Amino acid sequence: MHETMVAESLLATISTEAAKQNAKPVNARISCGMLNAINDEILCFAFEAIAKGTPCEGMKLEIEHKPMQGLCKSCNESFDVELSHPRCSKCGSEVFELLQDAPLLLEEIELQTEQ
Ligand SMILES: [Zn+2]
Repeated sequence: MHETMVAESLLATISTEAAKQNAKPVNARISCGMLNAINDEILCFAFEAIAKGTPCEGMKLEIEHKPMQGLCKSCNESFDVELSHPRCSKCGSEVFELLQDAPLLLEEIELQTEQ
């Protein structure tokens, strides 16, 4: 399953960062594109399962899905593509090129230092 691999790589990155700072991770923010086919619930479930017994146990994952970007062929504007209504936000043209989907990124890790 795709999400399990993603969860494993997230856990590895977060654990390394937490160990470096000698702190406990409490929250992590992830972003990915619309076409990345990440199911939030499955990812959180997979992460929870593999985080058991590690310093990451009980931490929260926040997943943000970034909209697709389009590049208008008429006015050269790049814009967020609304899937229900795909057209240029500046000139209204429906002729545009889809830009590459956003990659999966670990944006931020919130750590809590031991008291
Ligand atoms: Zn346009």
